[in-house]
Amino acid sequence: MPIIFLKEEQIKFSRWLVKSPGKLNLIGKIFAFLIIQNLSKYKSPPEQSYTITYIPGFSCNLSCEYCFQLDNQGTRPSGRDVWSNEKALQLTRIVKERCPGSCNLIVLGGEPLVYKRQIDILYRKLKESLAIRVTLITNGTLLNENSIDWLKSINCRTVQVSIDGGPRGQDLFRKYRNHRNSYQDVLAGIRRLLAKNFQVHIRVNIFSPEKQDIHNLIEDLGSLPEKNNLIISFVPVDQTLSFKYQGLNENTLISAIRNFYENASARDLQCVAPLNHRGCAICDVKKGEELKHGIVLGPNSKLYSCWDTAGASGFEIGTLSNGLSHDCTSSRWKTCGSYSSFNQPFWDRLSAEFKTGVERGSYERT
Ligand code: SF4
Repeated sequence: MPIIFLKEEQIKFSRWLVKSPGKLNLIGKIFAFLIIQNLSKYKSPPEQSYTITYIPGFSCNLSCEYCFQLDNQGTRPSGRDVWSNEKALQLTRIVKERCPGSCNLIVLGGEPLVYKRQIDILYRKLKESLAIRVTLITNGTLLNENSIDWLKSINCRTVQVSIDGGPRGQDLFRKYRNHRNSYQDVLAGIRRLLAKNFQVHIRVNIFSPEKQDIHNLIEDLGSLPEKNNLIISFVPVDQTLSFKYQGLNENTLISAIRNFYENASARDLQCVAPLNHRGCAICDVKKGEELKHGIVLGPNSKLYSCWDTAGASGFEIGTLSNGLSHDCTSSRWKTCGSYSSFNQPFWDRLSAEFKTGVERGSYERT
């Protein structure tokens, strides 16, 4: 077996490929050439990638009372995409002009697994000319064997599952439309994903610093056999039209979250920092740089500046066919986190707590 380094003169070969010490015979040279060519593709830096955040619609199989996706009238925006060749081509063109090689497709909803058909069509059309990696953001209740096989077929290997607190919080807030509890189904879905080698990010929505419920969740996740592919974050949720914090003490909240991270880490769960989501590469841009790194695409081919406004009427910034009609100086252009119930110093303190925990070795950054 040859020992391989990167240059021909550094390659040691079996005797039958060498004519005298330090010299390769013809077969050896061909062999070396092929190896170096092959290795060079691993050496080249990964291409810059473009992000399409796609919300195919807002339908959902759950009926969370506080649903994040209710519009100003308290209803979910309606609409379901139909992908024509022309629309897919317009999107491909936008991506290829900015990033010729590859793109990340992040799908969310509503519940994106209700929209498998739309996502599938879009994926297959984009794949004709782009390398695509798909990430799914889901409520976790529809992760059965069929949908997991389908996710594999669309090159999805990373899934983010949102859970509201622990078992009690989830069953209280995130019920099915027929009022059934959902926690056990979500846990079963996470198990199935891990068994099929998916990277799973559990985002635990923190509504209140009620500790025991979240420690129960941590215990359940910590006892999963394939937890090496699982990462976890604890994120205080923002107020919505139907959810308001009552008498929240920010210090108590921060110290509870630190405690959750410590417990998760003690159970060998890999921790990621709660996102300080004030602007991202897509929405936080200068004039003239719109759509440079990514695009937020809502139902009916409308464009939005960020996830928070996607689908909300009055916040469209353009369409796929006509391009941008409002740039980042427009009042329609919102950055993610614009509506956060917490101010920037709160997020800074939370990030600092996480960093201190990493430095202390209480938990790991991933
Ligand atoms: S899972 Fe998300 S989209 Fe579905 S009802 Fe709950 S908050 Fe709304």
